[in-house]
Amino acid sequence: MTSLANIKGQAVASRLLENSLQQGPPPLLILHGPEGTGRFLAALAYIQHSLCETGTACGVCVPCKKILQNMHPDLILFPAERVSIGNPDHPEPFSIRWLIRKRLVYQPHEARYRFVVFPRADLLLTEAESALLKTLEDAPEHTRFLMLTHRLDQLSPTIRSRAVTVPFYGLSSPAMRSILPDTVSNDDLTILGGSLDQLELLHSDLTNDMATRIEAALRHPVSLLDLESWLISLEKNSPGTGTTYSASLSYPELLDFFGLLLLMKTESHKRFKQIAPLIFEFKGTLHRKVAGIQVFLVARLFHQLHTTLFSR
Ligand SMILES: [Zn+2]
Repeated sequence: MTSLANIKGQAVASRLLENSLQQGPPPLLILHGPEGTGRFLAALAYIQHSLCETGTACGVCVPCKKILQNMHPDLILFPAERVSIGNPDHPEPFSIRWLIRKRLVYQPHEARYRFVVFPRADLLLTEAESALLKTLEDAPEHTRFLMLTHRLDQLSPTIRSRAVTVPFYGLSSPAMRSILPDTVSNDDLTILGGSLDQLELLHSDLTNDMATRIEAALRHPVSLLDLESWLISLEKNSPGTGTTYSASLSYPELLDFFGLLLLMKTESHKRFKQIAPLIFEFKGTLHRKVAGIQVFLVARLFHQLHTTLFSR
């Protein structure tokens, strides 16, 4: 049995994937991070969980067995190489035209969802990527896409903006533990998810401030309003897109980090089951390149949080 919780050293990814399974798979998931960090196994485990008869990736039911043998008719696993748009008249197998005309036009054969996996999404050729994007915009009802890449920046911003992104990191928790001082708590390690990139951010005044504000906001509606204005004021401090807070953080990235922190802080909340989907929706729409959208999304999230947290 492949458990998502056991994806080695990838606490953030397992939590994101497990939560997303509970909400039902989103139209597009992007698993990104260095080679050899378990992205591919995680993708298969995720699909197995979705299609397993018992929802546990039991490994013994018919759908599980078919997935493990790569014989499930509703799992379309592209080869880990360049993907072209395909010949307009006779598209070759595993081209995008082939996918659209010979597969996506039909309902799934056996399962509730059809999964399409691109193990090297960074090798989608430009034309192929554009054609795929059109397909994503139409959001085929029964199809779910998983893209894997070690270079998130190689995917077009439009593709990224339609995805829920799941980060994988290069370091295991024990490795991190041995590197980091004892002052870094185990909770911090979970948030870092095996990357030292965000350590500076994690131990910054900004994060401490954010964490304190989140804790207060979960207890009192006035503090929730305060947190909302504070988050929005961070955007005004740094107008326009692409401007940075610390070494490498844009406003959408900062909000993404906020979403993650909020997810961690609400995990034991009695209404977590209602809160989590709101955060996922928020995280999933954050990176759209529409002027002013982040402020709108913050406002919407906080309106929803208010109802969820404080209604009777
Ligand atoms: Zn099964």
